[in-house]
Amino acid sequence: MAAELATSPPVGRLAPSPTGAQHVGNARTYLLAWLSIRSRSGRLILRMEDIDSPRIKQGADQQAIDDLAWLGLDWDEEPYVQSQRLALYDDALERLKQAQRVYPCTCTRSDIAAAASAPHAGQEGPKYPGTCASRSAGDADDLAKAGAAFAWRFRATDQVREFRDLVAGEQRCNVARDLGDFVVGKTDGTPAYQLAVVVDDAAMGITEVLRGDDLLASSFRQLELYEALGLKPPAFAHVPLVVGPDGRRLAKRHGDSRLSTLREQGVAPERLVGLLAWSCGLLDQPRSCRPEEILPSFTLACLPRQPWVYQEEASM
Ligand code: GLU
Repeated sequence: MAAELATSPPVGRLAPSPTGAQHVGNARTYLLAWLSIRSRSGRLILRMEDIDSPRIKQGADQQAIDDLAWLGLDWDEEPYVQSQRLALYDDALERLKQAQRVYPCTCTRSDIAAAASAPHAGQEGPKYPGTCASRSAGDADDLAKAGAAFAWRFRATDQVREFRDLVAGEQRCNVARDLGDFVVGKTDGTPAYQLAVVVDDAAMGITEVLRGDDLLASSFRQLELYEALGLKPPAFAHVPLVVGPDGRRLAKRHGDSRLSTLREQGVAPERLVGLLAWSCGLLDQPRSCRPEEILPSFTLACLPRQPWVYQEEASM
């Protein structure tokens, strides 16, 4: 069985969130995910991650599909849509409840900020201080009867986890100590990203998850869930993000780097692909090229470990 798995072609995914327009930074990650899988004749899945309902922008899903096609990237099946798969995430949450791996948490963001002992500078916010951790899954019934709003929080394990990231190298983390218990079911009844992504990556047979390194810490949360649900985790490859000249993650303040805008301006996709490939150490110069032209020489080994600075005027 192990030998069989080792020789079967890899399966990867492109997983846009239609919470806004896709930009140059997303394009770089998608290009790398596509190259990594296609260079080994693997299969690619397109999955629309549209369950973060308040932040979803109408039409952004189709726009993301158009952006990917414009770049020259393709996938092998009809796109999967997370909002159509809610029953699967509910089933997984139910299993976690049965196994007492989750508890109902009534804390609000400000409760957590107030109770957290150490000031926390990271973008993830303070570590959960464990206020509701003494509850059991069964306490949810009484809370619901009392009309209390609650999320489902996963009880992280106190153990060092290690994995070798295909880009970022050796990683280790104790989720309970370093990250804390995390939400898997939101107050509004919808699944949290951490749960949906694990259920889907496992159900779709994904063997390699290539994504931005802002999600590196989340891999450890996801490894906790793989274990708790008895699922096999994929390999991870976390690539450095694209930043603006000020070193902050590419965003509106750096100008308009939306792919839809470049498209409307008549920028040739080959120009952007060439620029991105060059930024990944895959071309000597930023010349125009199509994704498949890079396949023969593709390797993640050239990829710089630092974020890439995108300068709008200088670049396109
Ligand atoms: N949908 C997420 C994003 O667009 C990616 C999540 C993942 O790759 O696990 O940032």
